Amino acid sequence: MARLRRVNWKEKTEEAKKALELHNSSNYLKIILENYFLYNSYARADIAKLLNDHLQTIRKNGAQSKAVQKNIFLEIYSKYIQVSEDLALVGNLLLNSKNKEINSLSIYMESNNSDILSFYKRAYAGFSDKEIKKIMGIDKLFEYIKSAQHLSKEEIVSYESIISESIKIEKNNLKMLAKLYIEEFKNEKGDNQLIQAGPIDVYNGIKHGYKVVYPTKLAKSLWTQITEDSVDVMHQVVEDESTGQKIIILGGFGEINDDIINSIMFNIEHFSEELHLMCEIRLWSEKDPMFVIKRFRLTKTEEELKKKKINVNDKCPCGSGIKYKRCCKFFKYEYDKIDPYSIVDI
Ligand SMILES: [Zn+2]
Repeated sequence: MARLRRVNWKEKTEEAKKALELHNSSNYLKIILENYFLYNSYARADIAKLLNDHLQTIRKNGAQSKAVQKNIFLEIYSKYIQVSEDLALVGNLLLNSKNKEINSLSIYMESNNSDILSFYKRAYAGFSDKEIKKIMGIDKLFEYIKSAQHLSKEEIVSYESIISESIKIEKNNLKMLAKLYIEEFKNEKGDNQLIQAGPIDVYNGIKHGYKVVYPTKLAKSLWTQITEDSVDVMHQVVEDESTGQKIIILGGFGEINDDIINSIMFNIEHFSEELHLMCEIRLWSEKDPMFVIKRFRLTKTEEELKKKKINVNDKCPCGSGIKYKRCCKFFKYEYDKIDPYSIVDI
């Protein structure tokens, strides 16, 4: 499970403003950095976590009404939507940044649901290797390897295999997230269509009801009976086949169970991790192209560390062939020490 980072939100907002003042769209690094600040999904994930803690406490005490629980739950859900939208916005930015003028604020303001959906549709279909390389900033690394005279043939082969493995991992990660975000359904013609359905549909269904989507007479009359204090919410509108009348089904998340909350929290953290991995790799690989390889190796090592203890003189579990203390252990130490924001002025 991903660990959450505490973010000093006020400080980051100030830094983001400063970065925007310095904005120059030809400075690729700054564009990414601005997004790293502005779409800080770690902050959002932290808020979701706090809300979840709060929800668990009041559920245990039974002191608050179910309506209050529902509202907190909806806030958590809205964080889920925001974090997944952040990922799509930054993903689009990283993909398209060489082709047009991009201002991170305008991207945020001008992007609409269909842009976000189109990112996930592409992720769902599977990004091409070229696209993943663009998103993750791997081209820089290839350039570096090509020009590095001191590398042996074996080293080049080993780096290339790590790169192709990392491309596969990222492709699958983004595909998995796309699956969470969109739903596949058959339309009347029998064609399979991808729609933005998972979080958006549930959130709007609960928060706003379907009265806008289905403004039938019956729906309107039922809607007036639903108050904010009511736990029962409009969940779905179906058509009664015999009468042709549209009927609202009540219920939805009347019972907010642990499974639903846990899966939402997991998704929030997963979206957030993925986004920050993308940003960090892009940001740091500008300065150290080998960062991509080191970071992916570290991911592998951290997985192994969960399973067993590794001695400092053992061979590193990442497969580099060198001692753990000189490989991922050392990199982790450096990695934790580096302040990514300090390289803004390069
Ligand atoms: Zn290693």
